[in-house]
Amino acid sequence: MVLAAITEFDQLGRDAFLKLYGYRPAIGYFLVHDGRRYDSKAIAGVAHRGVDGRPLRPGEFSGGNATVARVLGDLGFEVTKPGQDAEVPALEDLLRKVESLRPALSSTTGERKRHQPLTLLWAIGRAAQGKPRLRRWESTYRELGRLIEEFGIEEERPNPEFPVLWLHHHGLWDLPGHADVPAASGRNAQKWMKEHQPDSGLLPWAYEIVTDREDVRAQIVVRLLSAYFHGVDHNRLLTRIGLDAMSSPASRREAIVERVIRDSLLAEQIKRAHDFHCQICGDRLTLHRGFYAEGAHIRPLGKPHNGPDEPGNLLCLCPNHHVLFDRGMITIQADLTATDTASGASLGGLRVTENHEISQDHLDYHRQVIAKQS
Ligand SMILES: [Zn+2]
Repeated sequence: MVLAAITEFDQLGRDAFLKLYGYRPAIGYFLVHDGRRYDSKAIAGVAHRGVDGRPLRPGEFSGGNATVARVLGDLGFEVTKPGQDAEVPALEDLLRKVESLRPALSSTTGERKRHQPLTLLWAIGRAAQGKPRLRRWESTYRELGRLIEEFGIEEERPNPEFPVLWLHHHGLWDLPGHADVPAASGRNAQKWMKEHQPDSGLLPWAYEIVTDREDVRAQIVVRLLSAYFHGVDHNRLLTRIGLDAMSSPASRREAIVERVIRDSLLAEQIKRAHDFHCQICGDRLTLHRGFYAEGAHIRPLGKPHNGPDEPGNLLCLCPNHHVLFDRGMITIQADLTATDTASGASLGGLRVTENHEISQDHLDYHRQVIAKQS
């Protein structure tokens, strides 16, 4: 019903559509569909035709967050709020939705279950490979089931129905043509999927973002891997979801994404190992989404230094010390004392942790080359 109203809106054009049904242009609330904006109240009013055969007039109901936005949102549509434009909210919304997955806790190990993140990773892998957004249920069931079997936590049963339904109600997953979608639990959910065999996939706006924006794709993949897949071979998982440049006839473009993901993952691991505390001063920044630190390469990547991207060549630093270290204003001695390059004064010992060993060769390079240049 909503889709029919959107189609009509597209066919008539915005002005004619609003005029025909007597709606004023929306000020704050826009429905976003396939990357385009629609006046949400007008769409909701016209969609009402599917309920009792006639569109509602603007005076018969109120628009805004409490009503139209909520109802459309419940139906899986995205509605922007006042002051937002369509592009940025979609991106923020996607990241927020990824952050707010709610996988159940395993009753035995206490780990978060991996159905939901695996479903997203699978879809992102498909988008990265240019595969169609929607997939037949039979194939989804088989592919996702295998992935859950292989990478899920031990006791997890490979029931792909549940994450798909959950993501649908979370506003990320499309089951086009189905209005009576059941909740993501119980036998009824499985029965419904079996009966309807729905084509499904990411919603168009989300699919568009992860297809077009390599950086966002990388950010989401890194986020999911670091939040849910401790103790899992990330490379093997990346390979399985088609984000591995080595195993697929990948374009250069994909190789770059791959690189970004691996680099970010490594830096993320190092930062986590230090719990985001700067190894020089011990400070830790707190932001809305959590703690913040930077991964600093000791021997710089790329020409002319050609440092490797490996744990021993990384430090976890606060932004200030990252800059000072990169410029050689600060360097690290063989006994892991941080020193001021100009005066030679000690700034104290580098904070270290068991599972992050720092390479003496790279420290030596930093003292001999980077600090000498400053
Ligand atoms: Zn610091």
